[in-house]
Amino acid sequence: MSYATEGHRGHISLISVHGDPAIPIGKEEAGGQNVYVRRVGEGLARLGWQVDMFTRRTDPNQDSIVYHNPGCRTFRLKAGPERFINRQELFECLPEFLREFLQVPRTDDTLHPLIHTNYWLSGWVGREIRKHRPVSWVHTYHSLGAVKYDTVESIPEIAKTRLQIEKDCLEKSDCAISTSPQEQSDLREYVSDKGNIEIVPCGTNTDHFGEVDRHTGRTLLGLEPEEKLVLYVGRFDPRKGIETLVRAMAQPQVRDRFSFRLAIAGGSRPGHKDGDERERIEAIVDELNLRDRTTFTGQLSRTELPKYFAAADVCVVPSHYEPFGLVPIEAMASRTPVVASDVGGLKFTVVPEETGLLVPPKDVEGFAEAIARILENPQWRDRLGESGRQRVEEHFSWSSVARQLDRVYQSHLNQLYRDFFASSSAAEIRG
Ligand code: UDP
Repeated sequence: MSYATEGHRGHISLISVHGDPAIPIGKEEAGGQNVYVRRVGEGLARLGWQVDMFTRRTDPNQDSIVYHNPGCRTFRLKAGPERFINRQELFECLPEFLREFLQVPRTDDTLHPLIHTNYWLSGWVGREIRKHRPVSWVHTYHSLGAVKYDTVESIPEIAKTRLQIEKDCLEKSDCAISTSPQEQSDLREYVSDKGNIEIVPCGTNTDHFGEVDRHTGRTLLGLEPEEKLVLYVGRFDPRKGIETLVRAMAQPQVRDRFSFRLAIAGGSRPGHKDGDERERIEAIVDELNLRDRTTFTGQLSRTELPKYFAAADVCVVPSHYEPFGLVPIEAMASRTPVVASDVGGLKFTVVPEETGLLVPPKDVEGFAEAIARILENPQWRDRLGESGRQRVEEHFSWSSVARQLDRVYQSHLNQLYRDFFASSSAAEIRG
């Protein structure tokens, strides 16, 4: 028996205690989790799910219910003070969040509604809901405390709680979603060898990234006809490996052969001070005499990003570690090849020689070689860009992510239904 038919999949609650899916996407405070939950919710509703998303109210003026596309809405529950609070305080608000969640009138008519929790705080809520209701439970981590605290000598009290909850999310849920094979192996290595894991990647907006063509992007940025654009997009953090990229640009096979502009995008908003890493990188740029050929754009808005990605000849992601990495799929959606470190999620998103190239992390010579290969061959660059676009449409568009999650949910629900009917038939025979 199949539980759901096309157009009527049943009811799902997406729980995101600290990442409000209803805040406008594109605003500064919308981070990865808000966007993920909102896009997944909308995509599932289009597939026929009835989607309710639950988050915490952080401002007394916020609407308590926000309607998105048909079948998809957000509930903002009262849990703790109605303002932004830190994670430690947030943990203490979870019992109130749970009580509020359980009081929302149910409209679901399914035997086993589904909950999908996001991040360990919501994972706690999921674990507790299970004690009150017969639900199927799916969890996405978004970040793993076990990896974060691996190198730290003494961990704070809240971290111990987090690690235990992350373990429960794997062992006690029906399924944990990992966004890449790297996260899956991290879960097995650091969290538990019990529990089900399915890989479903993060997504990106393929209408937004890809809307500007290369020629328009270059014109908007005022690039000279022969000037190649090498792009970095991301935070200033030593683990992002910006130093490797800057040093690669100073290698003779790049510096002496091409007229280029290195654009380093990211950092604080105007008026805010960037961290030490930006100063360190600027000092290296000066030391290597690259100042005239380098632009620090500062933080770029979602509206500005597509033209940079489209105009670039190559987008470089030199991270030392990257659990997933949205930047490569944004670049690929914009038809720009990616040169990335051969680590973590980047090994999953970038297909070497097909959508870009992979290089060992911190390998300055290797990055220089890979960047030069793409810069010297514009036809190959365009082919890599086209394949990147196709790969993103197939695997990393939000509609594809929703379809992949839909398959995971259905297979778990079908199993639960088989178990349920098997146990009720057994009870009938006995009775
Ligand atoms: N980003 C942005 N403006 C910038 C720099 C980065 O909007 O100036 C975005 C970027 O497009 C991506 C996100 O920040 O969506 C970074 O996500 P990623 O997974 O690549 O790295 P993280 O910061 O999560 O380590």
